[in-house]
Amino acid sequence: MLEEILKKLQATGTKLIAVSKTKPVDAILELYNRGQRIFGENRVQELVRKQGELPADIEWHFIGHMQTNKVKYIAPFIACIHSIDSLKLLKEVNKQAEKNGRTIDCLLQFHIAEEETKFGLDLDEAGGLLSSDDFFKMKNVRIRGVMGMATFTEDEGQVRREFAFLKNIFDELKNMYFPDDPGFSEISMGMSGDYEIALEEGSTMVRLGTLLFGQR
Ligand SMILES: *Cc1c(COP(=O)(O)O)cnc(C)c1O
Repeated sequence: MLEEILKKLQATGTKLIAVSKTKPVDAILELYNRGQRIFGENRVQELVRKQGELPADIEWHFIGHMQTNKVKYIAPFIACIHSIDSLKLLKEVNKQAEKNGRTIDCLLQFHIAEEETKFGLDLDEAGGLLSSDDFFKMKNVRIRGVMGMATFTEDEGQVRREFAFLKNIFDELKNMYFPDDPGFSEISMGMSGDYEIALEEGSTMVRLGTLLFGQR
């Protein structure tokens, strides 16, 4: 399964985030031993425990809703936080990154689904954040792009529209705030049920759990 997926991703140069939440370290090691290095988790406590038990060259991505008071636990090692949904959270990430002498990659999470429950910014909120004095002063975070989750639905057309919407947001932010920054390049979209649509709509990172590890 992994090889088949990787072949598809290679064709578009898309990165694979193996979403290992709820799965034991043995299962992670198995994929690690087959060459996978990027893993995603959505709970701080679980991530910290697994990070301590697994090889140090794993690149950990945080993909869940992040509480400000928990940033400090993952700041020493986290490679990328996909779920920045407020200036307050970004400020805390910057502060904790500075304490650790690091720069942490971040993605701005956008609300693109119809469902009310999904977290995320809208374009106005992101514009406010990116043009703020607070953001201008931050030296220890790097905004690498955007992330979003489509509605959980059988309606392919709707999923496609939501991914296209996120791609549009990426393009607008790129033009407005990052025209000369090659580092602003990532669109994190696509999960087990919809990653092929996401690839067609311009995804640069897919986050796959079930397809790689089986049902949770
Ligand atoms: C769980 C999760 C995934 C992976 O979902 P699958 O459907 O198992 O591939 C991707 N992104 C986020 C934000 C998640 O919480």
